[in-house]
Amino acid sequence: MIVVEAVSKWYGDLAVLSGCTTAVARGEVVVVCGPSGSGKSTLLKCVNALEPFQQGQITVDGTRVKDRATNLPRLRARVGMVFQHFELFPHLSVTDNLTLAQRKVLGRSGEEARRRGLDLLARVGLSAHAEKFPGQLSGGQQQRVAIARALAMDPVVMLFDEPTSALDPEMVGEVLDVMVELARDGMTMMVVTHEMGFARKVADRVVFMDGGEIVEDAAKDAFFSRPRSERAQQFLSKIL
Ligand code: ADP
Ligand code: MG
Repeated sequence: MIVVEAVSKWYGDLAVLSGCTTAVARGEVVVVCGPSGSGKSTLLKCVNALEPFQQGQITVDGTRVKDRATNLPRLRARVGMVFQHFELFPHLSVTDNLTLAQRKVLGRSGEEARRRGLDLLARVGLSAHAEKFPGQLSGGQQQRVAIARALAMDPVVMLFDEPTSALDPEMVGEVLDVMVELARDGMTMMVVTHEMGFARKVADRVVFMDGGEIVEDAAKDAFFSRPRSERAQQFLSKIL
């Protein structure tokens, strides 16, 4: 579903991705971890065509990200993205947050968009909050709305960039629960997170990045029981 081939990216002289190669199969859950500044967010943004890259190629569901012929808005609509900060529209109700892009980008009718939005709101356990504004919800609730909003676009893959890092500890679980359920439903997911409990529970593979390189790309059990590189061993010893 996602193929990343020898991707390199520089900001001026600074190499932020160096020859990154990995892939995510349909229905697979890949957790991306590594120290701060290692290029995890940049890699996700390249997959979603939010950031350009100078070398290599990324293909999402058969569509080349770096191809002049590729319709980027259409590609982005098929790749759901959830960030650390919820980025809901503060001046719109939960329902309007859930329906806006469905109507504007997918051209769904108000009725259809509303039905789909409310369906997903139920799935993340927030049916009672449809008419509230984001500011009236807790951080964990806002992040669940953000996940529902991404799902409302019927994405073929979901990218998560540290979705629980900005949350108070007591709210982390409710967001991870929604993500676990999504993974079990077969969604293809690429998840940047330091929540190794989540990784152990649902990841198929773990990608470990350091200094813009993919240092390890291993099956979950192999990664946790015997990371090959010293850098991954050090990283794990600090966070576990
Ligand atoms: P991570 O998500 O793993 O913490 P990032 O992908 O955010 O890492 O950043 C990788 C590197 O790229 C860091 O050294 C960061 O300072 C640098 N970087 C990120 N965005 C920019 C930017 N817009 N301009 C210059 N450097 C950037
Ligand atoms: Mg980051």
